[in-house]
Amino acid sequence: MIGIWLLLLLLSIYQAGLTEYFLTNPERYQLGAYTWEEESFRRMRLGEGILSLSDLDCEAVAALMVEHNYDLRRLTWEEYQQWPGIKRALMAGKPAEYQKLTQAYRMIFQDIACFPIPISGNPEKSWENGASASAPFPVYEDSFLEPRTYRGDRCHEGCDILGTERPRGFYPVLSMTGGQVEQVGWLELGGWRIGIRAPSGAYFYYGHLYQYAQEWQVWEQVYPGALLGYMGDSGYGVKENTVGNFPVHLHLGIYLPTDHYDELSVNPYWVLKYSERFLRKADY
Ligand SMILES: [Zn+2]
Repeated sequence: MIGIWLLLLLLSIYQAGLTEYFLTNPERYQLGAYTWEEESFRRMRLGEGILSLSDLDCEAVAALMVEHNYDLRRLTWEEYQQWPGIKRALMAGKPAEYQKLTQAYRMIFQDIACFPIPISGNPEKSWENGASASAPFPVYEDSFLEPRTYRGDRCHEGCDILGTERPRGFYPVLSMTGGQVEQVGWLELGGWRIGIRAPSGAYFYYGHLYQYAQEWQVWEQVYPGALLGYMGDSGYGVKENTVGNFPVHLHLGIYLPTDHYDELSVNPYWVLKYSERFLRKADY
């Protein structure tokens, strides 16, 4: 009798050890129940190499991300070409998990058809033509999960596009995808914000707007490139129309529904880099 208890005890210790092992050795368990939803996945490190290809193949991205610890920024062309073999191995070992990961990348990328800030159609202002000083190219950098301090310590779950030296209301903000308006109105942190649910399931959140282009209704349909509103500096206040607490910019957030999270935020920085291929022109 004591022998059986001892055996069970030893088994449970062994199991606890295994779980620990899986969690601390993600390279041995990349597609486990939780691991692909962790920070390394959320950082979306695609890199310039993958983005220089004319098509983004989500099956290739999923296979290569697993193989390279979710960081493809230094991927070589030779390494890229290995993806069909990596995919075959994953399909033999963890087909459901591999397909789920591929689906997550599709959710993010396949509906994107527009960069959120257009080029000015006015040739004198256009930053396309030598980035004239009158309307410089909006800038953005990777600030995902950097600390922010308004209303307690938290992390930046998005990417900021700055309209340099321009008053609020100058830059148009376009919908990167088609989809439906899911949330609209004032938020203490986000100011005047609008959230679009794209057809494949990702949620695109545009914050700190100066004003909306029209009175958006929840569940209203938008098309890719639809004028949502104008870049501003609203937010950081309970009171509606609080402005001026930070420089004018667009805050972009991208969220995914997954098995364990209703809204898992992912880094929009490399997604924005990808969407630069869909830059549009607008009169402003
Ligand atoms: Zn932000």
